[in-house]
Amino acid sequence: MAPSAISPSTQETQPTPMSKPALPRSSNNEIQKKQKTPLEMISQGVSLPGIPTHPTFALHRQWMLEHMAIAFRVFARKGYTEGMSGHISTAACHTHSPAGKAWSTFARPLEMLNQDVTYFYGSAQAVYPDFGGVVFTAEEGERLAAALGSQGKGMILRNHGLLTVGSTVDEAAYLYTLMERSCEVQLLVEAAAANGVEKVFVPEESARYTFEMASDPEALYWEFQPDLEWEEHCSGGAHRL
Ligand SMILES: [Zn+2]
Repeated sequence: MAPSAISPSTQETQPTPMSKPALPRSSNNEIQKKQKTPLEMISQGVSLPGIPTHPTFALHRQWMLEHMAIAFRVFARKGYTEGMSGHISTAACHTHSPAGKAWSTFARPLEMLNQDVTYFYGSAQAVYPDFGGVVFTAEEGERLAAALGSQGKGMILRNHGLLTVGSTVDEAAYLYTLMERSCEVQLLVEAAAANGVEKVFVPEESARYTFEMASDPEALYWEFQPDLEWEEHCSGGAHRL
């Protein structure tokens, strides 16, 4: 899903310059890609601002913690909570959410079945193929990081659940909601396919192009804002420090 008509609602945001040169009508995708950021390409009309910056570390930390509190509320609303399992940190989300846990049983990556899941195209997703019981050791964490790889955004942990990472809490949280929903969709598709309905995949070139144009940190930050703003409205600002 791409944001379309979101206006920044806080004073934290700092608009980015709007002085990109106009594109000729005949521009193809390659030319547009060189002249516009993914966020500018996704935005309709006036471009959304970039990721907020803050004059001091203290203000940045406060903003980060408040967004983390909101992300927890979003996860609770979506039904990801289960006992003590799961966490959201400044760069990663992990829970045992139902669809992720179900799809993890197959130890297979998500297929390029629709536009949204192409955000995990190629090495942006990984599968952790082992399950050796509940994780307590630092060594296991190192193996998880190695399996995710330097390009990884999300990982399916066999017989366990999902893990996503990002440069902001918002990015990691959005990717988690997307990966969980993508697992749910994959399971629906598998059920239909088992009854003889043939799958039609997103073409390789289209999947790669969509990934490159829509799955960067700035765009993924904004993808979380509709959920964040709704939760902020519902909680009456209770997350504020
Ligand atoms: Zn876990």
